[in-house]
Formats: sequence, structure tokens, C-alpha cells
Amino acid sequence: MNPLRLTLPVLLLTVACGPRQLEPDADIICDPCAGWNEPQQPFRIHGNAWYVGTAGLSSILIETEDGLVLIDGALPQSAPLIAANIQSLGFEPRDLKAILVSHVHFDHVGGVAALQRLSNATVYTSQAGREPLSTGQLSGDDPQYDPAAAYGDFPPVRKVVAIGDGDVVSVGSVEVKAIYTPGHTPGGTSWTWQSCALGNCYNVVYGDSLSAVSAPGFEFSSSGVADDIIASAGIIGDLDCDIFLSPHPFFFGMTDKLERFDQGNPFVQNVGCLLYAESMLGWLERRLEAER
Ligand SMILES: [Zn+2]
Repeated sequence: MNPLRLTLPVLLLTVACGPRQLEPDADIICDPCAGWNEPQQPFRIHGNAWYVGTAGLSSILIETEDGLVLIDGALPQSAPLIAANIQSLGFEPRDLKAILVSHVHFDHVGGVAALQRLSNATVYTSQAGREPLSTGQLSGDDPQYDPAAAYGDFPPVRKVVAIGDGDVVSVGSVEVKAIYTPGHTPGGTSWTWQSCALGNCYNVVYGDSLSAVSAPGFEFSSSGVADDIIASAGIIGDLDCDIFLSPHPFFFGMTDKLERFDQGNPFVQNVGCLLYAESMLGWLERRLEAER
């Protein structure tokens, strides 16, 4: 029998429906990667918001009546863990409609391409994030851009939509608003939406990284990026913010909060954004002192 007669329908089915199983991209090897990628039991943060990331890299699932939204995809080797976490909560990773990106660094977007292949979700980033996300390489104006670095590239993402500052991604009745907060990267974006449960509605903020970290030789003072971080910290600090989340769980004290879950919901804390903005400004201040 002509083998084409067998393989063609299978091929067409795969193209039409996407792969049944997650097909991860190659692991990225870095010093902290193994620790970051330790498994983490997924849990409900509040209402429609679930933590499905790893021990050191956040990935947030937003449940809607019309499919799922995911924020950030961690490392390539995190994608199978994220998909398994989503499934263990009773959701289907193939139901992802939108994947939102905080900032285009390998440890937050490395798993996005594989999760998109599985679900055919549309991927959203800022105007400045689209080019690096689509090419899998940092832009030259990223503080961490270093052509001599051993790693930093990541699997490029197809079908990237650039969202404007203040614009909204709607899935079902959930509206997730993009807020540009550049500094850690030129395209850094924070996201905010509402989560309601048992009559309580809270504003959830996924505040992007604002840490003053760079490749050797970069200066936050002379480049003007220090001003971006100061402005972005002000924006995050001023947001309506009942629940604060961020790309690294240690930025919002996840482990400590999980231990206190029996005393009300420790993630509901209206000073979270303010405390985060202050700590990032402190980080910048120490960095500027070192540059002097
Ligand atoms: Zn980063």
C-alpha cells in the first residue's frame, strides 16, 4: 500500500488539531535553572487565579468560562511541568486561548513556544517585546544583551500579537489589562485583572520584574534605564492592587504565604504592589551606588 495514504490523513489531523502531547523544546542549561525548575504543587491563589509554575518561576493560570489564559511560560523544560500542573487542577492545557508575557527573557518565555504548539493559543507581548519574542533573541537595547553569553536565546514564538499600553486581552468575561513597565527589559509588561469569589472581588496585579540586572559593562545610570525603572516602580506602586504576583515567586513571598494559608488568604494584601516597588527601587539604588 502506498504509505502516503496512511500518513497524509494523520499529518492533516496533526496540522488541524495541533499535537496531542506537549512536545517540549530542548532544555536550557544555566546555573540556577535546575533549582528554578524544581516542581511546585499548583494551587488556587484566589477565584479565577491559579499558580501553575515551578518552584522558582511563576506561571499563572486564569480560568474563564470560555477557555484559559496563561501568564508566562518559564523555561523550555518547565513546559511539561506547567501542562501537568494545569491538568492536575482539572483543566485542559489545550484550552489555553491566550498566553501573556511579562518580559522576554529565557527563564519566563522559554516554555511559551511548546505550550502554544499544544494549544494554538495567541501569544501577547508589548510592542518592544514582539521582535525578541518572535526571533528567540534579546534585542540590543536589553540590559542583559550579551553576544558573548553562553546562553540567553530561547525557542522563538509564532503568531505574536503586540498589545498597546492600557489595552485589554478578553477571554470569556475576564479582561486582562496590559500595563507597560519597562526597565528590566525594554518591553516589560505588567498585567492586571479582577478575580471574584464568594462575593469578594479583588484586583490581581502580575507586576513584572524591575530588578537592575545587566550584562557586564551596561550602566543603568548613563543609559537612562534607571529612569525607566523609577517610572515603572511608580506605576506598579500606584495600581489598584489587592493581590500582588510577579515572575519570580520569591518576589511575592509565595513559600511563606503558602505556610499561612490556614489564617485567611495571605495572598490578599493591599500593600503588596507598594512593598514590591520599594524593594525594586532599593535594588536600583544599590546598583547606582556601585556604578558611581
Ligand atoms: Zn528577566
